Amino acid sequence: MTMKLKSFVNGQWLEGGGDTVTLLNPATEEPLAESSTSGIDFAAALDHARTIGGPALRSLTFADRAEKLQALYDVLFPHREEFIELSISNGGNTRNDAKFDVDGSTATLLYYVDVGAALGDRHLLNDGETTQIGRTPRYGGKHVLSPLHGAAVHINAFNFPAWGMIEKAAVALLAGMPVISKPATSTALLAYRMTEVIVNSGVLPDGAFSFVAGSSGDLLEHLGPQDALAFTGSGDTAALLRGMDAHTHRSARVNVEADSLNAAIMGPDIESGSETWQMMLNEVTNDVRQKAGQKCTAIRRVFVPPAQVDNFVAALQERLEDIIVGNPAEADVRMGPLVSRNQLDDVADGIEALGRQAGKVTGSLHPGELPGVEQGKGFFLTPHLFLADDLSSAPLVHEREVFGPVVTIMPYNDVPPLVAACAAGGGSLVTSVYSDDRKFARELLVELAPYNGRLTLGNNKVAGKSPGPGTVLPQLVHGGPGRAGGGEELGGTRGMSFYLQRTAIQGYSALLDKFFPD
Ligand code: NAP
Repeated sequence: MTMKLKSFVNGQWLEGGGDTVTLLNPATEEPLAESSTSGIDFAAALDHARTIGGPALRSLTFADRAEKLQALYDVLFPHREEFIELSISNGGNTRNDAKFDVDGSTATLLYYVDVGAALGDRHLLNDGETTQIGRTPRYGGKHVLSPLHGAAVHINAFNFPAWGMIEKAAVALLAGMPVISKPATSTALLAYRMTEVIVNSGVLPDGAFSFVAGSSGDLLEHLGPQDALAFTGSGDTAALLRGMDAHTHRSARVNVEADSLNAAIMGPDIESGSETWQMMLNEVTNDVRQKAGQKCTAIRRVFVPPAQVDNFVAALQERLEDIIVGNPAEADVRMGPLVSRNQLDDVADGIEALGRQAGKVTGSLHPGELPGVEQGKGFFLTPHLFLADDLSSAPLVHEREVFGPVVTIMPYNDVPPLVAACAAGGGSLVTSVYSDDRKFARELLVELAPYNGRLTLGNNKVAGKSPGPGTVLPQLVHGGPGRAGGGEELGGTRGMSFYLQRTAIQGYSALLDKFFPD
């Protein structure tokens, strides 16, 4: 009998009825757990969060809430090894990839402890100083930020069950909003176990944190004007959710983190084998391999000057062919499977479509015998590298996010068509520029900024010191325009603005300063 996951809503653990979804180990296809949320009263769950969790959090200052986040860290961290094991078994992650998710979650939590502690003993935030708006300084106005009185619903993608849940929760809880968190069902085991630890610890007030183990049922239909939905996942699901009455008619807030066709660009000044060339090679290789390319920030498109194409293709091919693919529970394995049969089918379809427009340099959908894998089991493929003739010969590269270990190299000659090709992705989470030529680097950063949520500049001053474009840091905003969803998360205190209402208050300046001191 596999374990049945429960949801934690309304202050209690509830088991759904009816048909269940089976969670698997994607390397062995062994069933690990069942989940169902059918029959759960989500309207009551929302009500509990809004009426019990919300007031409890709002009665605390930012410093108090920071202490709660520290307490969460203190209860979660001792379970690190257990979380890593769950990430390996249910997520198909190697140990290093599992750490990326699990340690990323606790590091983000700790970062927001510091943000909250620095904000101190206040319940509200000011946005700017009091400004004179009348003829005398007596009459002024200022902007105040206060937590919404609803609930924050968080829907996460399958690839980062730990980080996705905790990074969103840390920001919302610090802002003073209760959270209802829903992981993607296929990899929910890790988020479920983290929730058990959180709930059993009792460190959060009643109603501050709820958890949906599976489908969100009719939860989103009940969202109202004071609620907020932070969604991470595919653009198609985002479009569906955005069109719901809760957002179109009741203006419940919605933040979307969706697909992205991220790019890496080699400057014309870069010589084969130089420090910066090596840095780019490392970062592209890592993005193809890490989590089997199932990372929203992974590099999908690589733009290289014609003179460097042959060398870079050969070097990347060698690196990708060296990656040991197999059961991530085996110590030598560097890349695990995709998370599900559906993902493998979707990626295989994307690879076939790409292969009609660009030349395949390496990669197989039938990798044969793999370490620790029973023949025919698991959702495996090897890293794929494609080479396109020019910027426009494979239009699909700029249209379709193939969410796996797949990357395409394209030669470019001039800056304007290069920028246009980057922009053809429709808006990205991140683009990385590798150049030691300051004029080229600045021009690219300026031109690409409107099309990206984040830009990274790689050069010989930071080679070996960068976490790579694929790593999202809590200090900097995460999100991107257009197809990337148009959302924004993290970025220090900026991330909290999604959960706070900005209100302009005008009146007697001296009193406003007294009521809302800086
Ligand atoms: P997905 O199918 O859109 O699912 C994402 C989440 O939405 C899951 O929790 C899923 O739950 C839920 N969901 C699906 N349909 C729903 C509905 N009708 N109502 C409410 N919830 C619904 O995406 P995915 O395939 O899991 O994730 C991969 C995608 O996410 C990729 O495109 C990737 O680029 C994107 N992603 C973006 C970021 C970012 O920060 N920008 C980060 C990671 C991933 P179930 O699992 O229960 O169906």
